[in-house]
Amino acid sequence: MTLIVQKYGGTSVADPDRMRAVADHIAFTRSHGSDVVAVVSAMGKSTDNLIKLANEVSSVHPGREMDMLLTTGERVSMSLLCMALADRGVPAMSFTGSQVGIITDTSHGKAKILEVRGDRLRDALAEGRVCVVAGFQGVSTAKEITTLGRGGSDTTAVAIAAALDADACEIYTDVPGVLTTDPRKVADAQLMQQVSCDEMLELASLGAAVLHPRAVEIARNYGVPLVVGSSWTDE
Ligand code: ADP
Ligand code: ASP
Ligand code: MG
Repeated sequence: MTLIVQKYGGTSVADPDRMRAVADHIAFTRSHGSDVVAVVSAMGKSTDNLIKLANEVSSVHPGREMDMLLTTGERVSMSLLCMALADRGVPAMSFTGSQVGIITDTSHGKAKILEVRGDRLRDALAEGRVCVVAGFQGVSTAKEITTLGRGGSDTTAVAIAAALDADACEIYTDVPGVLTTDPRKVADAQLMQQVSCDEMLELASLGAAVLHPRAVEIARNYGVPLVVGSSWTDE
């Protein structure tokens, strides 16, 4: 059985229609004989909105409390996606980063993954379930909830793919793939069919949001095959 890790970014789960489309895509992948672990981001701009809310409430933002706040966005997505999958007769189970044993260092807001245990994912997959994991988060060696930095759901997906030795890690986003430059800023940006890890690391480090730099590093270090594509099936 092949195992595919699929990551759906914020725009890909931004509203109920998009959420249902993601559930359809996961059901389709599963019907073609693959086990699926789906990693989800918070819906649309909800992480930005939570930060705005914190700013409105207080000028003091302790890292621990910001991480407790911001990780809620991904929890909304994971549970709704499981409900949409249940609607399609697909058995699915949601997990926080902590529940799947994503162990990080103690740097709130920019924690580094030290280890992915993944036992609960292996068990749920063996029971025939789709696993839906909240991106961007883990639990620290001090047992506190942490976040991996903005855009960190990519890193969650690649780290899980490495830990479970997945056949591929697919990153679904709002552009058709990696382009020569940001298509929102440069009209004639060209789609790149293949990008080396070093080239991608350079693009990501220069701010190409399409992949989080840590995700590219993990993909390179563990040889995870990464595919970036649009979650809109007509693109
Ligand atoms: P998601 O919410 O799916 O994680 P992001 O906003 O984090 O999406 O990343 C996708 C965005 O990355 C695109 O909308 C695009 O504007 C931007 N981007 C910047 N540089 C590039 C690039 N070289 N190739 C593709 N997209 C890029
Ligand atoms: N929701 C988080 C963010 O907006 C993580 C992610 O989307 O990858 O940065
Ligand atoms: Mg992103």
